[in-house]
Amino acid sequence: MERNSFISKLPKTDLHVHLDGSLRETTLHELAEQFAYDIPEGVFKERYDSLEDYLRGFEFTCAVMRDEHSIARIAYELCADAFNEGVYYQEIRFAPQLLEEHGLTCQQILTAASAGIAKAEAEFNNETPIDLYRASIIVCAMRFPEQFASKSVAAVHSAIEARDILGLPVVGFDLAGAEYGNPANAHSEAYKIAKDAGLGRTVHAGEADAASSIADAIASCDAQRIGHGTHLLQDEPLTRLVKDSDVLLEVCLTSNLQTMPHLKDLSQHPYRQFIELDVPFTLATDNRLVSRTDVCTEYQRAAEFAALDHAQLAKIAAKGFDAMFFPGSVGQAQQYRDAIKVETDRVRANC
Ligand SMILES: [Zn+2]
Repeated sequence: MERNSFISKLPKTDLHVHLDGSLRETTLHELAEQFAYDIPEGVFKERYDSLEDYLRGFEFTCAVMRDEHSIARIAYELCADAFNEGVYYQEIRFAPQLLEEHGLTCQQILTAASAGIAKAEAEFNNETPIDLYRASIIVCAMRFPEQFASKSVAAVHSAIEARDILGLPVVGFDLAGAEYGNPANAHSEAYKIAKDAGLGRTVHAGEADAASSIADAIASCDAQRIGHGTHLLQDEPLTRLVKDSDVLLEVCLTSNLQTMPHLKDLSQHPYRQFIELDVPFTLATDNRLVSRTDVCTEYQRAAEFAALDHAQLAKIAAKGFDAMFFPGSVGQAQQYRDAIKVETDRVRANC
């Protein structure tokens, strides 16, 4: 089987995808028109000058996520697009607190996103004995100190309430936003609450700051996964710790090249060393609209630059299923993984 065809059929996850960075462009413009909101030309592009330039688009995407119908639609479309690329499991993340300014509460926002997910699951699972397509939510808190540090505890409480009282598929907690100068340890209380409640814990780290930021996320937030982790290899003992504790890196290649313009191309990205050193990682999109990418494109780019074979690609995908924060019991998660393995073996047998 030709590599791109194998990639599209291989069951994959997207564990790191921001709802507010992953709208369909057509939907963004339709909603902007509906709300009489102006979106300037040239905001979303292939290359960005800096992290600030990259982040500029979120002002516009968040502006159209202003009612429940729009949020549900955006979530549903994200699920549909990913499902068409052979993504079986997604963890969709966003900061409800950033969307509250339009008058919705955190719980209304999480309920709306969950409705979009539920619609997708009901549509895509109609003929399989076990539901192979699943999606869930990671609630993000923001690193910015003045505005949001005090809100991370409130954010984690709203995540737990959404799961336990409303029965929504909230599975994890994340820290996003400006990494440099805003250490994760300011949010250790929120992460302790998340851990005690059994929420999965991931932290954006080692992207806009050094390996010490990853160490901080693991030590002070008990992170089980790291968003990006691009600077991990600066620190050898930390690399060993990540490996030995099976902390998964959520690697987003296209996004990394865009937010770190000093990386000229993928030959300067450490993911090939991650493979050589057996550092656990999987591939993810980060922001499908802002980065102009999708899951198959991320796998194709990784495969081309490092000449990855089918077995290596399948291992990267399997790592995603191993490290998911699944919405269900440990037993249900294992049953799901077993079903995915059967599907993966079927695809590999045909290649
Ligand atoms: Zn991210």
